[in-house]
Amino acid sequence: MRNDLHLQTLTATALGWVDPATDAMAMPLSPSTSFLRDPNNLGRSGRYFTRDDNPTFLQPEALINQLEGGAGCLLFSSGMAAIVSVFQRLKPGDHVVIPKFVYSGLREWLQSQGARWGLQVSTLSEYTADTVKAAIRPGQTKIVWLETPSNPTWSIVDISVIADVAHSAGAIVAIDNTVATPILTRPIAHGADIVLHSCSKYMNGHGDLIAGAAVVAPGQEQLLQDMRNQRNENGGVLGGFEAWLLLRGMRTLYARVKTSSETAMKIAEVLIQNPAVSEVLYPGLPSHPNHDIAARQMTGGYGGMLSFRLMGGELAARRMAANVQIFRQAISFGSTESVIEHRADVEKSGSPTPRDLLRVSVGLEHPEDLIKDLTNALAIADSADFEAQIVAV
Ligand code: PLP
Repeated sequence: MRNDLHLQTLTATALGWVDPATDAMAMPLSPSTSFLRDPNNLGRSGRYFTRDDNPTFLQPEALINQLEGGAGCLLFSSGMAAIVSVFQRLKPGDHVVIPKFVYSGLREWLQSQGARWGLQVSTLSEYTADTVKAAIRPGQTKIVWLETPSNPTWSIVDISVIADVAHSAGAIVAIDNTVATPILTRPIAHGADIVLHSCSKYMNGHGDLIAGAAVVAPGQEQLLQDMRNQRNENGGVLGGFEAWLLLRGMRTLYARVKTSSETAMKIAEVLIQNPAVSEVLYPGLPSHPNHDIAARQMTGGYGGMLSFRLMGGELAARRMAANVQIFRQAISFGSTESVIEHRADVEKSGSPTPRDLLRVSVGLEHPEDLIKDLTNALAIADSADFEAQIVAV
């Protein structure tokens, strides 16, 4: 497909692909495990077994690759399978740099499996050119990991600044772009070498699929080939049906991300005025410490994820999460329906997440309904007769 088209057009048309065998405009699903060999025992289609490859992967991989401006994409069985395969290429003794606030599953993997693997990890409270430069161990640092906005405080990092520092030390920049999605940030254009996604979130967008993806920048094709081999050897391959569902979900990615960003902005502006809230963490607010970077780097919105802290501390946060009616108290994000979560509870020991913090994923409901729901739950959480109210719910 032409590469001068807007992301909105690329997603809505799923690259405009039509099945050559049937002229079907919706991609057919190919559930086959095996592919026929010819009399010489060679795969006629170049395929043999779905753990290597499946035709249903091609369209979602091509679409994600084009959205990210990459040189190639691979689907994985989950976001974690994609993320971990970047670290599993490393050798014992190799060093990586990660931010303090990062998706907790990665932090926990590095503490458990990564430690057994012999990886050395530096965790930085602040991600600036100076802090990253100081953390880099020449010859030993192989990956500088970014997430922007990052879980669950939605800190923003200037990707190009960090990429310059990492590249001059011979390290690659890997970025988890699950939250921003390529609709709001295209990290390869800012110097990232590899972009990872949990497609279980916005990419699919309907809360009914676990999937992951990796996209490499031009020049990093060998990295992708290594990860392809690893995907086969580790077995972290996506099912054909999930790949099909993913492509269907991505057709509405643009509209979903835009709507949830607009609503999240409205919610952040209301919450910041509420006396029961001590802090609202959202990159779209001018009060966010890196709002200026977000305004430069993010395109057309600040995302559907925001967090806030309560004056009443942990108890008030728990009370509030127990008293929403439209938001659901649940894990994960990026679906059509809004969810709220006491994040410190679900992150394992060593979590830096404040205990008075609630994380919300803003869905596609009407903003007024969501604002009313949060405002009511805040009032209940703040009230003295909370115990009576929770029994009545
Ligand atoms: N990256 C981020 C930012 C996430 O929030 C998650 C899951 O919550 C993952 C990666 C892992 O993805 P998955 O659940 O698809 O394995």
